Amino acid sequence: MTLLTMRHVPDPILRQQARRITQIPAGMSKYTRDMVETMHAEHGVGLAANQVGSRQKVAVIQLPEWEEALVLINPEIIRREGEREVEEGCLSIPGYRGMVKRSQRVRARALDLNGKVIRIKAEGLLAQALEHETDHLNGILYIDHLISRDSLYRIGYEPDPEEPGTDEKVESEQ
Ligand code: ZN
Repeated sequence: MTLLTMRHVPDPILRQQARRITQIPAGMSKYTRDMVETMHAEHGVGLAANQVGSRQKVAVIQLPEWEEALVLINPEIIRREGEREVEEGCLSIPGYRGMVKRSQRVRARALDLNGKVIRIKAEGLLAQALEHETDHLNGILYIDHLISRDSLYRIGYEPDPEEPGTDEKVESEQ
């Protein structure tokens, strides 16, 4: 396993459109295992290839309760339903979190490592992760979806004593 180097804002690759994969290269399985390893090392629930310096259209997602990561080649959101406000963070924007607008439910389509079509119906954290990672591959970051200018905040400095139970919050950097 190789840990890949994380790219952070303002690295221009984070604003670039990933290239669609037409034929799954032989090294893809190893590469996505390295992506998963890197995501684990960074305590993330998702990682898109441009966050580790590749413009291939591939992302990995692993929710906390999952035993294995989901590899998504050429992922696309094909349907969005409803709207909600959620807190979000990104491994490429360390030290910050923000309140963003996301869909309540999404349908996504991608290919797996064998080139087989995967269709996913999701809500909750998985829907959020699917939107976050497909956005990455289109050069979009969560800070583009902030509900207002002051809904981006620094974390880990001054805990708000007014807000109970902040230490129980599940961090879900992607
Ligand atoms: Zn991210």
